[in-house]
Amino acid sequence: MAGFQGKSVLVLGGSRGIGAAIVRRFAAEGAAVTFTYASSREVAERLAAETGATAVVTDSADRDAVIARVRESGPLDVLVVNAGVGAFGDPLEQDPDAVDRLIRINVNAPYHAAVEAARRMPEGGRIIVIGSVNGDRIPFPGLSAYAMSKSALQGMARGLARDFGPRGITVNVVQPGPIDTDLNPADGPMKDIQHAVMAIKRHGRPEDVAGMVAWLAGPEASFVTGAMHTIDGGFGA
Ligand code: NDP
Repeated sequence: MAGFQGKSVLVLGGSRGIGAAIVRRFAAEGAAVTFTYASSREVAERLAAETGATAVVTDSADRDAVIARVRESGPLDVLVVNAGVGAFGDPLEQDPDAVDRLIRINVNAPYHAAVEAARRMPEGGRIIVIGSVNGDRIPFPGLSAYAMSKSALQGMARGLARDFGPRGITVNVVQPGPIDTDLNPADGPMKDIQHAVMAIKRHGRPEDVAGMVAWLAGPEASFVTGAMHTIDGGFGA
């Protein structure tokens, strides 16, 4: 596979889980991939050695650091914003600082990264943000802050698609349901309650999401923009 030969790809949050599968996919298809991480240095360096990608530390909670990282990455053909965190629980009990940090990572960083990338992105460029089916559906309590952040990405993608469409740049959101990662392990405490509302009663794999991202980044998707792409085993059906 060499579908992304000669393409420059930046993945924000690529060291583990869904982000790591996206890094592997683009690297396997010949792209020059840079990915960021926040704290998993050893894991990130192992992934870089395995794939030939470049690992760089950049905290997505730090707006200026995110903007600088995108700027330093030069003209990008593809920006994928995957870094995201959860802050789950009773909103009456939640630490407001944790909620604000979640908003910085899950909302502010994708917006500023997308805008900065678009400054130098060539015609045909792709901006892909990892949202969540919780942007559409919240079947349990305790998800408000997280769901709010993922819904915000929908408005962002619709708006930026209008702003950058005339330059041939597409902006899309991929919305996974339960995917087996450190954030949501397939054998974790939430598995039964999640599987109960799904049509396909199991977690998906990070590679499933990477496949959708690769399609959106490829030539077949040049007419797809401002749209949400749900991959959730029917969680939101
Ligand atoms: P993981 O927690 O397994 O991995 C998160 C990745 O993002 C890691 O590479 C992590 O880096 C990076 N990251 C987290 N915070 C920051 C930060 N402040 N700055 C830079 N990088 C950061 O998560 P998943 O792979 O499960 O999730 C990836 C995305 O998919 C998220 O946006 C999540 O909301 C979304 N999603 C996940 C679902 C699931 O069921 N797993 C379902 C729906 C959406 P480091 O290793 O350094 O911590």
